[in-house]
Amino acid sequence: MREVIFICALANLRKCAQRKQLAEIHNNMTPETENKMRVLIVDDEWGMREGSKRILLAEGFDVDIAESGATARAIAAQKIHDIYLLDLKLPDVDGITLLDEFHTQSPNSVFLIVTAYATLDAAVEATRKGAFDFVAKPFTPQQLRQVVNRVAERRRLLLEAERLRKEREERLMELATERTRTKSILSTLREGVLVVNTRGEIVLYNGIALTMLQLSKLDVGSQLAPQLPESKLKDAVLELLQLPENEENEKLFEVEGLAEGQMFSVYATPVPSKDGSEAGRTIILQDVTHQAELDRAKSNFVRIVSHEIKAPVAAVIGFTDMILQGYVTEEEKKTEYLMRSKRRLEGLIDMVKDLLSITRAEAAELKGNFSPLDFGALVKEVVSSLESSALEKKLTVVLELGEIPPIAADETAMMQLITNLVSNAIKYNKDEGTVTVCAHIAGDGVELTVADTGIGIPKSAVATIFDPFFRVKSDATKKIQGTGLGLAIAQRVVKMHRGRIDIESEVGMGTKFIVWLPAERK
Ligand code: ADP
Repeated sequence: MREVIFICALANLRKCAQRKQLAEIHNNMTPETENKMRVLIVDDEWGMREGSKRILLAEGFDVDIAESGATARAIAAQKIHDIYLLDLKLPDVDGITLLDEFHTQSPNSVFLIVTAYATLDAAVEATRKGAFDFVAKPFTPQQLRQVVNRVAERRRLLLEAERLRKEREERLMELATERTRTKSILSTLREGVLVVNTRGEIVLYNGIALTMLQLSKLDVGSQLAPQLPESKLKDAVLELLQLPENEENEKLFEVEGLAEGQMFSVYATPVPSKDGSEAGRTIILQDVTHQAELDRAKSNFVRIVSHEIKAPVAAVIGFTDMILQGYVTEEEKKTEYLMRSKRRLEGLIDMVKDLLSITRAEAAELKGNFSPLDFGALVKEVVSSLESSALEKKLTVVLELGEIPPIAADETAMMQLITNLVSNAIKYNKDEGTVTVCAHIAGDGVELTVADTGIGIPKSAVATIFDPFFRVKSDATKKIQGTGLGLAIAQRVVKMHRGRIDIESEVGMGTKFIVWLPAERK
């Protein structure tokens, strides 16, 4: 009887406008499923198998059939099917077991249970194992068509959900990669970066910004202002955030940092959104302490140099005016004034020479003009060139040279360093004193000591002794001519060679300069 209904239904089906139905099915399908959906029919009844196959082929499905559990397993092992029509009563295996297996194998496929013996228990069990729907035998082609199309729709939705899930995962991966990339780029910057949205919430920042603000972290998504420590830096950041949209965002602040003596430049640039409006602001923090120090040192230097030049020039003008205006009439006095003018001008020339040496040392450092130098030979040469001035003061000059390997150095600068130290040891010595110059290997470099038995340097002057133009003012130094630049030059030369210079001195006893220079340029 069942077969009769089924066959009649089949005949009816053939009469139907198949094209129209197929078109309907196609319209229901997503691009992924435009390729035919695959159905596996597992049923031991030949009529059911073949009848269902024909109906579903006509519906536009791709259909495989299996008469037993074993065949079904073999087919399912070859390919995944979109839809499984499973008879619960098979000769060799329980349909529920098969459902369980196939569901595990393809969780996104849809399972339709076809059985003549559907009981509530079987239904519950099959649903638990992943079945989507039931169709009870006997059924009409229309019923089968309806249920299978419903199942196909379910499969389509599952596929779509799966596609969206994958897409989302990929997008998330992309976002994560993008974020990591942005973060690594930001971390390579020397500037501190804070990106804030229009609501004043922090969106992005880099580690340097944290260091500059002396913070261990910033809470992304929270207001920036309450997280910043009270400081001029905070005031500048907040002022930049409050500036009207796109206007004056480039305003630059030079403010003190949180640490003593620290200077920052702070400015903001707008972050545009797609429609051109402002989506937020990027605040850039730049540590300009070093630049500020350099600027200060430079203007200080210029101020001192002009002062040092002005004094001798004014003196020379004074002397010559006195002569020209006839205030000095005695020939002897005139000669004395001219001699004094000459000395001041000579001093000026020395100063210009020394200033040029400083510039030269700085330029050499920039150029990195270093080549292997026989340091011992250079010390010897400088000492012998100064022997005549030592003789004038009846000084004993002792030279102690060890085995010294060549060192990487700028020869002219090095000669200047040794000359300045040895000539000072002569200049500031007492008559019949001693100058001892030693050079030997020390660690991975050389050590040069220049010691004298002269007037010494007061403790109060030691801290500023290397400052340009600094000279100890005392009765002992009054008559000794100098520019106050010799030690400043010496210190610069040592610094450019990445060395060290130290001083030991006792007033009335003598002074010792100790210089260490690395053998290799680092
Ligand atoms: P200058 O000798 O031209 O004055 P320097 O820069 O060489 O300038 O030295 C700065 C000052 O340091 C000198 O004016 C002097 O007061 C002091 N000084 C330098 N070397 C010695 C030394 N060997 N003994 C005593 N005082 C020294």
